[in-house]
Amino acid sequence: MRQGRTPNHREQKVDQRGFRRRRSLDTLVIGAGISGLAYAHGRGADARLLVVEASDSAGGWVHTERGVWDDERSELRYERGPEALQAASPEALALFSGLALELVPAPRSARKRFLLHRGALVALPRSPLSCLSTPLLSWGGKLRLLGEFRRDPRIALGGSLAEFVRHRLGPETVETLLDPFVSGVWAGDPEQLSLRATFPDLARMVEEQGSLTRALLRRKRGGAAPAAPGLCKPRGGMGSLTRALAESLGPRLRLSTPVESLRREGARFHAIAGAESFDCARVVVATSARAAAELLAEASPEASRELATLRCESLAGVIHAWPRERVAHPLDGFGYLVPSREQRLHLGTLFSSSIDPDCAPRGTVLLRTLLGGARHPEVVEMSDRELLAVVEREVGPLLGLRGEPPWTRVLRYRSVLPRYDLAHPARLETVDRALMRSPGLHLLGNYRRGIGVPALIEAGSALAREHARGEAQPPGPEGGLDPAG
Ligand SMILES: Cc1cc2nc3c(=O)[nH]c(=O)nc-3n(C[C@H](O)[C@H](O)[C@H](O)COP(=O)(O)OP(=O)(O)OC[C@H]3O[C@@H](n4cnc5c(N)ncnc54)[C@H](O)[C@@H]3O)c2cc1C
Repeated sequence: MRQGRTPNHREQKVDQRGFRRRRSLDTLVIGAGISGLAYAHGRGADARLLVVEASDSAGGWVHTERGVWDDERSELRYERGPEALQAASPEALALFSGLALELVPAPRSARKRFLLHRGALVALPRSPLSCLSTPLLSWGGKLRLLGEFRRDPRIALGGSLAEFVRHRLGPETVETLLDPFVSGVWAGDPEQLSLRATFPDLARMVEEQGSLTRALLRRKRGGAAPAAPGLCKPRGGMGSLTRALAESLGPRLRLSTPVESLRREGARFHAIAGAESFDCARVVVATSARAAAELLAEASPEASRELATLRCESLAGVIHAWPRERVAHPLDGFGYLVPSREQRLHLGTLFSSSIDPDCAPRGTVLLRTLLGGARHPEVVEMSDRELLAVVEREVGPLLGLRGEPPWTRVLRYRSVLPRYDLAHPARLETVDRALMRSPGLHLLGNYRRGIGVPALIEAGSALAREHARGEAQPPGPEGGLDPAG
């Protein structure tokens, strides 16, 4: 979707001698992923802001793509990033209803999840009672879960996620349940991830209530209800959300406009993007950590240096469509995850057409296999042929896939999911301190406090509310010419 001009921003044309157009505005938002879009939308229709996006489409990873199936007679719809929302937060629900977007709950059957266990797919227990009968844990492992409330609440709160779960729930739970869960959400390794950075609530529950069991029982007695319809997605795919947000911005969103440099000029900022430059009172950098580290090199060198130390996981995704009769598995679930000890290159497979039956024509199933992550970072460099061969070798026997898939797409995600490692809490504190010394500069993104879409909507909306409250901004200076050289 291409956007037009911004009528409310003062503008001067490119000078014959190669001078840049210089625009003056209140807020420049860099990046039109869900973080930047949620922020801009939250500022309201009257805010004097401009969102600039490097690529030719809005949405970042939240983007739905289309493919042709069956000699162009029908269409497949697949997700570039998130497959669905696990549970929309109140903030996300308000956003959907404000945009008049319909949230479609996944069929009940799609809520079942599988785990690869000793070479076969086993359904995850969905109630405390089924925990007792599941073959996923030994009796010793199950008894260890029951003893959680007796574990010392002062231990393992400052270390890794694996250390915390090992201490409270036992090593078997780490290997069997935590490890695949972490690779499913973060494409990461629980031994490397910080408890405080990934699940601060868990640490708080233990600190305040003495044990997870006690905290969960109290929460249940208190009647805390889930915020949303559970697993769901907007009609038409996840991209409907970012498309509607982009449309609501109209000419205040500019695509194909990568910001190349950002520097402070007194109390304001000056950003350069191709033949244009922007002079603004406030900048919201809503990009990946890597892009933010580059952009902040001049405007906040300290924050830039810290962000440059953050490692991010890379993945490959293979989307494959099949005639239903060539897949033996009932696909009665969300998909399956693979623990490290099963020693596979793939992390799991999502049953996309079970989650959203409208994404593929009747009689066709769509699957998405994710590979690599922290366990096998080299996978992202494999050729398409090699990746398809891994899917055939590893996924084929698990789902009973027969023959070659008639339709495939390979996606590569380089340095996409931030690793909230043990240094992350201190890293974020340093970044926050640097930002406090740089009024008008703000950061949003999945390296801050949560990688999930609901958390990013919440963070963007909260910052927008804060800025809207302090809206009494002094008017910006008149535009001027800036030599392009
Ligand atoms: C394969 C995959 C599966 C996922 N599954 C889930 C899931 O099931 N549930 C869930 O909640 N989350 C999921 N996530 C995570 C979630 O999608 C991301 O954390 C989220 O989309 C990040 O949004 P963002 O706006 O912060 O960043 P991005 O989506 O990265 O957007 C940043 C934007 O900034 C732009 N940009 C960068 N540099 C510049 C520049 N110099 N100038 C202008 N623009 C610039 C980029 O082009 C991009 O559009 C998944 C992610 C991936 C990759």
